[in-house]
Amino acid sequence: MNLKDFVADVPDFPQPGITFRDISPLMADGTAYGEATQQIVNYAKDKEVDMIVGPEARGFIVGCPVAFELGIGFAPCRKKGKLPRETIEVSYGLEYGSDALQLHKDSIKPGQKVLVCDDLLATGGTIAATIELVEKLGGEVVGTAFFIELKDLKGRDKIKGYDIFTLMEY
Ligand code: 5GP
Repeated sequence: MNLKDFVADVPDFPQPGITFRDISPLMADGTAYGEATQQIVNYAKDKEVDMIVGPEARGFIVGCPVAFELGIGFAPCRKKGKLPRETIEVSYGLEYGSDALQLHKDSIKPGQKVLVCDDLLATGGTIAATIELVEKLGGEVVGTAFFIELKDLKGRDKIKGYDIFTLMEY
């Protein structure tokens, strides 16, 4: 199965010159979504992961089924102001703008091994901020996993030293 067949390339979204890689056709196909999830589960299996963390919103789509398959928990990383209890925060740069991400203070226990998941690695700003939050709470990031990597944007360089697993490259 070629997972790229389930990614829609949308020219000039959300602004002219950007080609958006839309994963909703992949999510809509049970076999493709299951295959993508299973590949990340296989990657994570020997890492003794305790928790999955994913940034909103598509990090939930990638991370939650992986957590379920591994029989472990998922902690949501959200934009400022969305999480209801005590949080920690990190500011970060986006491909299109800037923002702050938060995690609930009690979402990771010190020493826990964490796999960070998102749908797509572009400049790496989102994942670097998510990693920083996990580490602030004393978690150990044992890997990062994405459906898609946009090679030209060099997100890898921003998270040098961390293990990176991607299913599709553009
Ligand atoms: P970065 O922070 O690495 O520059 O951007 C990655 C974040 O932006 C991810 O959370 C991802 O959901 C979102 N993103 C940026 N470009 C795209 C795209 O073309 N397709 C999808 N699905 N998400 C994107």
